[in-house]
Order: sequence, then structure tokens, then C-alpha cells
Amino acid sequence: MSDSLLLQLKDRFGFNEFRDHQESIVQSILAGQDTVAVLPTGSGKSLCYQLPATLKQGTAIVISPLIALMEDQVQHLTKSGISSLCLTSHSSSADRDFAFQRLTDLTLLYVSPERLTDPSFLDWLKGQSISIFVIDEAHCISQWGHAFRPQYRELRLLKHTFPDIPIAAFTATATPAVIQDIISQLQLQQPTTIIGSFDRPNLMLSIQQRLSGKSQLRDFLDTIGSDSGIIYAGTRKKVDQTCEYLATQGISVGKYHAGLTQSERADAQKDFIHDRVQIMVATVAFGMGINKPDVRFVCHLDMPKNMEQYYQEIGRAGRDGLPATCIMWYSLQDVVLQKKLIDDVSDSTILHAQLRKIDQMAAYAQSANCRRHELLRYFNDELPHSDPCNNCDNCLDKSELIDGTEIAQKILSCVYRLKQRFGITTVVDVLVGAKTQAIKSRGHDQLSTYGLMSDHPKTHIKTFVYALINMGALMITDDEYPVVRLTQASRPILFDGQTVQFKPPVQTKKSTTSKKSTSTTTHTNNTV
Ligand code: ADP
Ligand code: MG
Repeated sequence: MSDSLLLQLKDRFGFNEFRDHQESIVQSILAGQDTVAVLPTGSGKSLCYQLPATLKQGTAIVISPLIALMEDQVQHLTKSGISSLCLTSHSSSADRDFAFQRLTDLTLLYVSPERLTDPSFLDWLKGQSISIFVIDEAHCISQWGHAFRPQYRELRLLKHTFPDIPIAAFTATATPAVIQDIISQLQLQQPTTIIGSFDRPNLMLSIQQRLSGKSQLRDFLDTIGSDSGIIYAGTRKKVDQTCEYLATQGISVGKYHAGLTQSERADAQKDFIHDRVQIMVATVAFGMGINKPDVRFVCHLDMPKNMEQYYQEIGRAGRDGLPATCIMWYSLQDVVLQKKLIDDVSDSTILHAQLRKIDQMAAYAQSANCRRHELLRYFNDELPHSDPCNNCDNCLDKSELIDGTEIAQKILSCVYRLKQRFGITTVVDVLVGAKTQAIKSRGHDQLSTYGLMSDHPKTHIKTFVYALINMGALMITDDEYPVVRLTQASRPILFDGQTVQFKPPVQTKKSTTSKKSTSTTTHTNNTV
């Protein structure tokens, strides 16, 4: 069986061997099992359904969220001599006629979720011979995921309508909750679930606080020579500005964001892939399904809104397995901004899932621990050892940690005094001695921890709180109004003299002149 599969792989796709997990996924699909595969970006998920599609009777129907992705796949397949088409709002009428009249001649048909769930299309499909349904980017179905798409929810009806046809779902980024959600939403029947390792050891991970974004970026770009890379910015405006600035510096740049026309975007993408421009400056809109193996760096000028997005974006670097650098400059302002941006989410479950993800991202950004361990832990993956990875900023510059034991004790006591019933903002306000209405009306200015850290800027205190969350010495609850709680790990710090180390917070102009932080009386009461 295996040998013949290998022959098919070579014959149809020209590859000599399977990559990790591909073979077992292919076999599961061939055996008619529902299948969920969670493999990192670039690991070759498409092949896992394309190969079985060529071997099974009938046409594989592939649901994908982006037209560009579908067109790209069809192009590749056509080159390999595998007949496929995509049905989108952009399809020519010739393509549409072909799909409807000669579906049996197609090995794969790509469709958008809107198209698939259109009742008349579904009706037509019922009379056709279908090999498998493939759901690409399946995390879009979960509201716990970072890219929830309401149309994906409708895919629930597939199992109902076609109970005998196996479904294969693929994604690059899924936490255990998302995987469960994919399985239950799609009503998969005893699916084979295959989860690959998320580690990308060749990526050097680095995160720094943003001081002057421009000069930090310039300093970095001075080191890259002619390497190709992507710079992510949080807004279209910042993409425009950064692109313009770099161009005036004589750097070869292109840009990509949703404000450009479809053809401008397509051109920009091609220019980048074919090395006609060295650097792509882009929003989150850029990159899904892009396969450029020699991207040597990915920069983030702003903090992404969750770990999934961060992981996907850095994952576009170093797909050839050679060393690549991922560097992010973030500021606590990013956290505030991200939270504002999701203000308009009306569904409270989604809203709180998203708020929580922003906090997790911020905690990661401020962690003093090995980035690789933290990142993998988030996806419930672990390195096979607990050694430092020695390929992230935290592993490489341990020397600069400061003793934060006293600071940690003050913060933990404050959480304790607040009876573990308030969020980060209140904890920080109490420690800094803020004179807000909320503080006064709740009598928090009477607490022994009030103003205990008035000699620190608010932003620093917040950084320390996040660091403690990261170390597991504090936690944020999952409730509608997340509050800060103590954990098992708080006790030894508070009572047993366990020491704590922090990365020193960066001195910004703003943080050293923060008014609120110095305007209050200092309390020196014993705090525990
Ligand atoms: P994913 O969807 O997991 O991000 P893709 O399916 O786009 O990844 O595949 C990434 C690249 O890997 C593609 O260029 C593909 O041709 C290549 N690839 C896939 N399987 C193999 C293999 N077995 N051997 C070599 N290259 C492969
Ligand atoms: Mg893919």
C-alpha cells in the first residue's frame, strides 16, 4: 500500500517522499474516515487531500475562505495535469458551465462557503458523485478561533445532507478548544485527528518594546543585506506610511492591504514572490496561502491581536528550513488599541474570547521566558525537553534580568487585598494610587496597598502584572469580566521568599514623565 502511494506521489506531484504526517492523513482519507489535520503553515496540507482526490471515485469539493487561495491551488494543480476549477464570483461563464455540465471530469472543485451552502447549489450537488468534502482553514468555523467566519458555520449542514461522504478538515492554527469545536460543528464521526508539531526551530524569535518604531526598524533593516522579508503593520495607513518611508530610503518595497484594488494586490503579491521587490509591507490581509520559501525575516511593527495570528505571520519566514528572523516591536498602547478595535463585536462570547486572546498575546510579548516554550505551550504542544531554545531573545540575553521579588510581592498582595475580584486596570490603579472615581467609591484608596508603587509608571506596573501572569504567578479568569487571581505559584513568592526576575521595562519618554504615577502619597504599610 505504502509503496504504491509513494509511486502515486511521485507520479502525480513529482515529490520523492512524504513529509511528516502526510502519509497517515492520506491513508485516513482514503479509508473513508472523517479526518482533522492540524499542521503548521507550509507543511503541505494541500497535498494531503489532493493526492486522495486523484485516487478516489468522484470529485473532491474543497471549501476555502479566499478566492486568491483557491485560484493559486487550481493553477498549481493544472500545472501537474490534475483537472480542477474554482467556482467563485470571479469565475468565467465558461468555467461555470464546465463545472455544472462536466463535474465528473474534475478531480477537484474549489468553492467558497457561501456558494456551497447556497440551497440550489446544494440541491444540484446531491445528484453528483463526490469523493470527499475538504474544509481548508477549518479554524474559521470556530468562534474560539481567531478568524471566525459566520458562513463557515453553515457548513454544519454538510454531514446532514451528505452523511456518507467523508469530511477532511485542515488548519494550521488550532488550540485544543478550536479542534473540539471543529469536530463538533462539522459533526465529524470518530474522526482521525492528526496534530503535527508546531515548532519551527529555524525561526529566531525576538520581541522588544517599541521606542521609536522607525529607528528600530531602520537599525534592523541595516542588517539584512538583500534578504527578502515581510513587515506587518497594524493599519493600512501605517502600511502606506512605512512603505513610503522605506522607498525614500532607497529600499525596494511593495505594499499589500485590503484598501488596494484586487489587481494592485495581485501585482504586489507577484512582485514579492518573484523577487521583483525585496520587502513587502502589509496588513494581516497578506499572506494566507502564500508560499515563498526564502522569506528571511518577518517584522511586526505592532502587536497582532492574538497568538494564532502571530504564529501564522511569523510562520511565513524560513519555510525552506534555513535560519530566519522574526522580530516584533510592541507597546502597551497596542493592547489598548486592539481592545478598542473589537469594541463593536456584539456577541459577548466572541468578544470575551477575543479580549482574552489579546491579553494572552500581550503576556507573551512581555514574557521573560523562552519564547519557543511559551508559544508551543499556547498551542498545547511542548518541546521534547525543557532546555532553553537558545534561538530567542529571552534565551540569548538572560543577563539583563532585574530582581523583581519585591515588586512581585507588592502586586500579589494588592490582588489579595482586592479579594481577587478585579481586573488588571484596577490592580494597577490601586498600586499606583490613582484618584479615580471608581477607586474612591469602592474605598480602594483605604487599602494598605494603595499607592504602594506610586514611584513606578503605570505602564511598568502593567508590564510586571503581565509578566507575573506569564510566569503563572497570577491568572486572568475566563469570565465575562475577567479578574486577576492568585495561583498556586503566588504563595512561595509572597511567603517563602522565592525570588522573581523581570525583564527591565523599557524607559520611554511617556513612562518617565507619567503624572499619575508620582502625584499620590506613598503608603508603607506592611502589605500581607
Ligand atoms: P500548507 O497548506 O500546509 O500551508 P501547502 O499545501 O501550501 O502548505 O504546501 C507548501 C509547499 O510544500 C508547497 O509548495 C508544496 O508543493 C510543498 N510540498 C507539499 N508536500 C510536499 C512533499 N511531500 N515534498 C516536497 N514538497 C512538498
Ligand atoms: Mg494551505
